[in-house]
Amino acid sequence: MTETLSTPVNICVIGSGYVGLVAAVCFAETGHNVLCVDNDEQKVAGLSRGEVPIYENYLTDLLAKHLNKGVHFTTNLHDAVGKSEAVFIAVGTPQSSSGSADLSFVEAVVSEIARGINSYKVIVEKSTVPVYTHAWIRRVLSRYGIEDALFDVVSNPEFLREGTAVVDFLHPDRIVVGAETPRAAEVLRRIYAPLTTGEYYRHPNAVAGPMSAENPAPILVTSPQSAEIIKHASNSFLALKISFINAVSTICESVGADVDDVSRGMGLDARIGPRFLRAGIGYGGSCFPKDLTAFHSVAQQQGIDFKLLSEVQQINEQQKRHFFQKIHSTLWTLRGKKVAALGLAFKGETDDIRDSPAIDIVKMLLDAGCRVSAYDPAAMGRTQESLKPNAHLQYATDEYAAAEGADALLILTDWPQFALLDLERLKGLLKFPIMIDGRNLYDYKGMRDKGFTYVSIGRPASHSGFEGIPRANFV
Ligand code: NAD
Repeated sequence: MTETLSTPVNICVIGSGYVGLVAAVCFAETGHNVLCVDNDEQKVAGLSRGEVPIYENYLTDLLAKHLNKGVHFTTNLHDAVGKSEAVFIAVGTPQSSSGSADLSFVEAVVSEIARGINSYKVIVEKSTVPVYTHAWIRRVLSRYGIEDALFDVVSNPEFLREGTAVVDFLHPDRIVVGAETPRAAEVLRRIYAPLTTGEYYRHPNAVAGPMSAENPAPILVTSPQSAEIIKHASNSFLALKISFINAVSTICESVGADVDDVSRGMGLDARIGPRFLRAGIGYGGSCFPKDLTAFHSVAQQQGIDFKLLSEVQQINEQQKRHFFQKIHSTLWTLRGKKVAALGLAFKGETDDIRDSPAIDIVKMLLDAGCRVSAYDPAAMGRTQESLKPNAHLQYATDEYAAAEGADALLILTDWPQFALLDLERLKGLLKFPIMIDGRNLYDYKGMRDKGFTYVSIGRPASHSGFEGIPRANFV
């Protein structure tokens, strides 16, 4: 696309993780000149050879298209800042022991940025940070002797979802810019102009998505503190939707209702909407758990007890225990049983296992004395770094190898391919035809006819002919 863009901006992105790498490559895709910095030398070397360290649709192709043209990788932060008009900070903001966001990576980067400022720069918070971080960034830069006239700080939170990150970045529901000054807002407007004017979508090779030249991405310019709150409040609200439907699913189980019908019926109401209303084993990942806790902490610091957020978390923890209990009730005893676990990533289409509920379930099963044979299309490498294979935990080459000789098959992650399993083949491999589905990927009504005992979330369990277990034994 690059050649058609009228005003390319020199951009530096610091951090080449899930957010920084996607942002850097997508900024290049929309015609800008990008220097992407990371302090992990091995990562930078790999990226400079076109090797993408994460599983993300479109990313490898887009990187190949722009590598050493629109985007370069480097460890030299000082030099990259000096050459750029806008500096995006996209380093991690993990949860600290107190629950608040640990901003030490951000602070370390800001102090390095200070040494690279040689002309007016816009410093952009892309990382998810608590309200007033922009003011701290300003204060740190001032402490390093940088004159106010040489920089502005902008909050530009990122809303991408892992798995669909490239499409989300290039076709955002909204672009939020929390700017201190009109001058800084103007730089961000120029950066996002290909998306907000529709120029990008007119290009024949543009990555396809929901936006178009006629319906381009909206931009919302606010104060920095409003933008910071928008990010925390949005993630907390999405987590709330998930916990809400999970709590409803438990009621559905008690009364014999079908939570999928209930969520469809709720979601058709335009005021509610259908997304994030799918019952399952709970939310996870690198964002919702820590952002919700950090937002709670922000409220506490303001003397506000935002109890609703603790309840959302509590339901999420309960949901995992509830699913474990389902496995227990279905198999009667667990010690010595072999279970096949399909899915380790916190959701489908990603290799990210940070705070994955699937991993929590696997750990609970191991603690209960089960043998687990696990399979995930993308996350096994990362899982094995912390959960080494041993006599009780094996990693299988595919779904069917995992199922071989298992007492039951569990679905823990919503990978699309797990919804398309060859059930006849599975029946021949499993010791008993039992599927316990934490993602509701199958129609429970049809599973009995296919000869399965099928237990899912918020829907009646169906039992194959061979099972005479009284209904009371099912949670
Ligand atoms: P990540 O851990 O995948 O990547 C962070 C990168 O920063 C790493 O490559 C690390 O080596 C690098 N880094 C750390 N310190 C550095 C330094 N001093 N200099 C240069 N590089 C440094 O993190 P992520 O998932 O990309 O998340 C980044 C931020 O974006 C977080 O605040 C997160 O909450 C937020 N966010 C994440 C997502 C998501 O889906 N992952 C979505 C929206 C927002």
